[in-house]
Amino acid sequence: MDHDKKRCETHGEFDLITRYFHQIGKPAIGEVLLGMGDDAAMVSCAPNPIVMTVDTLVEGIHFYPDCPPDSIAHKALMVNLSDVAAMGATPFAFLLSLTLPRIDHPWLEAFSQALNTVATAHHVQLIGGDTTRGPLAVSITAMGNVTQAHVLKRSRARVDDDIYVTGDIGLAAFYVYARAQGIESSARAMHAYRYPNPPLMLGPKLCGLAHAAIDVSDGLLADLTHILNASNVGARLVSADIPIAKEWQALPHDEAFQRAVTGGDDYVLCFTAPKSARGLLDILSMTTERPMIRIGEICDGEGIVVDDVPWTAARGFEHF
Ligand code: ADP
Ligand code: MG
Repeated sequence: MDHDKKRCETHGEFDLITRYFHQIGKPAIGEVLLGMGDDAAMVSCAPNPIVMTVDTLVEGIHFYPDCPPDSIAHKALMVNLSDVAAMGATPFAFLLSLTLPRIDHPWLEAFSQALNTVATAHHVQLIGGDTTRGPLAVSITAMGNVTQAHVLKRSRARVDDDIYVTGDIGLAAFYVYARAQGIESSARAMHAYRYPNPPLMLGPKLCGLAHAAIDVSDGLLADLTHILNASNVGARLVSADIPIAKEWQALPHDEAFQRAVTGGDDYVLCFTAPKSARGLLDILSMTTERPMIRIGEICDGEGIVVDDVPWTAARGFEHF
């Protein structure tokens, strides 16, 4: 105790960690055997496996310099919880590696508060991390529980599966587009970009219903392609069934469609499921209050066909 105190007094870094990151989130009782404060945290994994993932957000690349600190905390944690949930797992803990250009107390206050709000709401605990000086970057490593039999892999899509998405496509991408063009974005698009709200409860509930899943972060068609390649199958999509964010309506239809399905930051779930699961998925959609929109189906072959025309990267960009 005394030793810890002395370290806090003599090192700004330790003071900062104790002040802002000492108790973030909800203690994960079963899995976390030792949280922050030692050289490493300790988690228990038997008898089931643990899934782990890491995603880093760098200022100027993954968020704009004018992004408020609460949004950076929210997004950094959510995108990682989204990856865990897309595996069918339930997140329980995370590590935070924070690179800061300077100690800015109001910024840290807002950042750590938002981190705590998100962590508490989703029952995850901050169990350790690292704090360094440099250009602003936030890296989070998240972990979750899943049973081996229930893990949702990309490689298990089957021919005739329906393909679903769980929300608007291209909403956050519209904010990025609007900023690049110097036109006005909607408040809704900015909010989607800054405060993504992935369907975290859904992933674990899809176990036994869905065959394959991916969280859509790099653009719907790019991410769906990961499922197709891993499963050695193709996909037929109906463009009119894809829930393109209404913000794009002002643009010519083809350009709007292409930008929406290739833009990033959707943080919806894309999954495939057999037609026999439709009834149960409808109920799940109601209980989780998440739309589940069928956009096409898995077929033999490879690649994506949209309205009977093969989709190629060239097609995606030919209008620009
Ligand atoms: P070490 O020198 O052993 O790497 P550190 O000085 O980096 O230890 O960190 C001391 C303790 O504080 C460790 O338990 C570490 O996990 C925790 N920690 C450091 N930075 C953070 C952070 N940004 N968030 C949460 N825990 C942190
Ligand atoms: Mg360290």
